[in-house]
Amino acid sequence: MSKILVAQHNHKSCIKQALNSAETICKQKKLRLTPIRKRIFELIWSNHKAVGAYDLLESLHLEDPKAKPVTIYRALDFLLAAGLIHKIKSLNAFIGCLRPEISHNAMLLICNVCQQTDEVEAQNIYQNICQIAENNAFLPQNISLELHGVCNSCHQIQEIDLNNLS
Ligand SMILES: [Zn+2]
Ligand SMILES: [Zn+2]
Ligand SMILES: [Zn+2]
Repeated sequence: MSKILVAQHNHKSCIKQALNSAETICKQKKLRLTPIRKRIFELIWSNHKAVGAYDLLESLHLEDPKAKPVTIYRALDFLLAAGLIHKIKSLNAFIGCLRPEISHNAMLLICNVCQQTDEVEAQNIYQNICQIAENNAFLPQNISLELHGVCNSCHQIQEIDLNNLS
């Protein structure tokens, strides 16, 4: 289970670990992590914030002014299919998966203040949802759990601000 402590973590090692897992997974699944797919994966991993396709295109334009939206969308489709990133549907944005090597039912915790996104295992919630669906003779095909709120760091900052006011 992950808890991203923004101020106290070495993000370079996060990126390194993410790239290593991506390479291993692609090798195992016989998928081709082409340079452009890898670059977009790295851009998504620039931080732990949700990033949209348009922002990715803007970043890519700094390196290659001829980069086209379709390049981004194809790379995103590949990374999603390979299980290397998650799509945040409520924001139409993306985030690097923290545990791509294990199949998991993630719930995304999205901070409304800083857009940091964490993921936690939510197997029991998925089971409950499937049970409810079954009870209603409904076949679930796509479950996504996205929780919006305030992350721990932003919560602490807000508390400090409130204390300074009083
Ligand atoms: Zn990190
Ligand atoms: Zn994940
Ligand atoms: Zn936050």
